[in-house]
Amino acid sequence: MGEGGREKQMRYVLVTGGVVSGLGKGVTASSIGVVLKACGLRVTSIKIDPYLNTDAGTMSPFEHGEVFVLDDGGEVDLDLGNYERFLDIKLTRDNNITTGKIYQSVINKERKGDYLGKTVQVVPHITDAIQEWIERVAMIPVDGKEGPADVCVIELGGTIGDIESRPFIEALSQFSYRVGPDNFCLVHVSLVPVLNVVGEQKTKPTQHSVQRLRALGLTPSILACRSTKSLEDNVKEKLSRFCHVPVANIISLYDVSNIWRIPLLLRDQKVHEAILRRLWPSSAAGEPKLDGWTRMADRCDSLKDPVRIAMVGKYTGLSDSYLSVLKALLHASVAFQRKLVVHWVPAPDLEERTAEEAPDLYEKAWDLLKGANGVLVPGGFGDRGVEGKILAAKYARENNIPFLGICLGMQIAVIEFARSVLNLKDANSTEFDPDTKNPCVIFMPEGSKTHMGGTMRLGLRRTSFQVMDCKSAKLYGNTNYVDERHRHRYEVNPDLVMDLEAAGLSFVGRDETGKRMEILELPAHPYFVGVQFHPEFKSRPGRPSAPFLGLIAASCGQLDALLQSPSQANQPTPKKFPTNVLKTNPYQNGTAKKTINILDGRVLSNSNGVHV
Ligand code: GLN
Repeated sequence: MGEGGREKQMRYVLVTGGVVSGLGKGVTASSIGVVLKACGLRVTSIKIDPYLNTDAGTMSPFEHGEVFVLDDGGEVDLDLGNYERFLDIKLTRDNNITTGKIYQSVINKERKGDYLGKTVQVVPHITDAIQEWIERVAMIPVDGKEGPADVCVIELGGTIGDIESRPFIEALSQFSYRVGPDNFCLVHVSLVPVLNVVGEQKTKPTQHSVQRLRALGLTPSILACRSTKSLEDNVKEKLSRFCHVPVANIISLYDVSNIWRIPLLLRDQKVHEAILRRLWPSSAAGEPKLDGWTRMADRCDSLKDPVRIAMVGKYTGLSDSYLSVLKALLHASVAFQRKLVVHWVPAPDLEERTAEEAPDLYEKAWDLLKGANGVLVPGGFGDRGVEGKILAAKYARENNIPFLGICLGMQIAVIEFARSVLNLKDANSTEFDPDTKNPCVIFMPEGSKTHMGGTMRLGLRRTSFQVMDCKSAKLYGNTNYVDERHRHRYEVNPDLVMDLEAAGLSFVGRDETGKRMEILELPAHPYFVGVQFHPEFKSRPGRPSAPFLGLIAASCGQLDALLQSPSQANQPTPKKFPTNVLKTNPYQNGTAKKTINILDGRVLSNSNGVHV
């Protein structure tokens, strides 16, 4: 409630895309949210994915990029990760709408008899269900404060004209009428290509796409045009004339040096004024404060000293498959004023088989691995490349190279240790060898093996530190426990833990029952850490995730200095690395009251807006 006791009126900014996919609509939509947030508004967001899957959980990262995991265990589109990182919010599974979810809810209602006697149709039943879903979810607070946000940014996936998005377009066009023009603002992201021969910025694709949008009942207030260079004035005028959008509302999204510049680009072109003029006509908006973003974008561009991290994975051809891991590495390396250089190492290429079949690839993969300062083995499923990952962990362990294993990366580190140190030659995970005599990673029945969708151990779970004098506890700020997000079926076999620990592997973090191993370390190694959870999902620009910070610090040869900091690791001494990180522990939900900006030591309170 608010606004004089009435139910709060939510405002909506819908972001659609035209001409081609891959225009960076998600980043544009989250950046719009950032600018509005910097104007003092509370922002939430919804992503609509018009595919039939109920959620992203069963989709291949090859096709669709990584599966992002939320606190509530929702397996969602990677764009929700952008929203969480950019807006520093925590979304719910319902903030990701898919065709599958909508049809499932309507069909469930039909089976219950809620539409008894009626013919159930796309219009009005599906379109109503979409609108009700949006209205309900927009009201869920996502920024840790009470009550609904002021504005909800809705991103419609796909491109205008796609068959599968038609019911959503129809629903949204009805919705714009339902909530009224004062509460609804449409931003259409389009492409303005340049033809090489003449070098002219071409407006026709955008014109067609806007015509199409209008024919479907939606009218854009703002055009955000992707182009290599800034849009020329005459091009804006032409677009304005043909698309009926004022020149002031035509935004030029030209190529910039790093992603943190996009909110600045939007602010410079006054996108907030165009939106506020429509949604809050009587409010006098001040300049959005984006100083933190400016500093971070400048710092990112100025970094020269590289830190080289080998990413040993299966999907090395498509960086979106590991988007959050890359972001977390970036957050940590920017914090250490290092330029992140990722060595993509295709795990299968490290295997002996490749040495025989394709010696060039084998040599290249090993050169990349050996040329890195640190090694990261990310999460994964299926046995392809597993032996290569095991070889990478062995190399890092034996050569004192900083190593971080995430989920599957932790499991393969255990397999490697069991094989090499405990001498259990056929040690394996039952995921890869169900008949192994030495199962050191086993199926832990919290989920199902017969139903693949949403049946893993998912979402936020607690890890309690068993040992406080370890690198991870220090990196996490000497806290007793951490809550991190999970997505897995298999875990370290508790029956083998005593033997593994006796041989030097220390399980420093476990779940509350003590049976599930959550964090492992090799105390004698400079930095050899495995985590069963996925810390990448909670990393934020300016608040890098602890295990990643450790990996980067160790890879820069600065971990000792970081850990020896007088009070805790999260307040490293300023020298080579910046005065930074966290004063209180942000990893315990809701306990972080005050944080220090990692870039300059400036105190940001959680209530004053942007965390950069
Ligand atoms: N495949 C492994 C499991 O299910 C690891 C999962 C992951 O890395 N996310 O436990």
